[in-house]
Amino acid sequence: MSFAYDDQNVFAKILRGEIPNKTVYENEHALAFEDIAPQAPIHVLVIPKGPYMSLDHFAMEASADEQVGFMKAIAEVCKIVGVEDGFRAIANTRDHGHQEVPHLHVHICAGKPLGPMLVR
Ligand code: AMP
Repeated sequence: MSFAYDDQNVFAKILRGEIPNKTVYENEHALAFEDIAPQAPIHVLVIPKGPYMSLDHFAMEASADEQVGFMKAIAEVCKIVGVEDGFRAIANTRDHGHQEVPHLHVHICAGKPLGPMLVR
């Protein structure tokens, strides 16, 4: 499978500073910010700074440093927002995964019981 990254997506614009964001955490390889339309009391998006469309794209093509930096950002977000009672990490991917923004993002949702994983 090949991946064709579109640098006009909204998260690419956030990374270039063209659109504001409410930053929760940032390191060399990743940025975490509040979701603009939160679906839980805590709803943070963690994105890599590199041009990766999806979790599988990132896992296949990102460098080891990028992958470690991204996972560290997730760890730091969990510490910052407080997820002692649990949380859900979601990476919606392509059409069947209902991905709206074609730049990898992991949703970190927490702050209340979140119910079953999928609508049945
Ligand atoms: P997904 O459906 O998994 O692609 O999720 C995209 C998420 O991006 C949604 O939860 C949106 O609310 C969120 N979103 C879209 N634009 C922005 C923005 N400018 N700042 C923060 N979050 C955004």
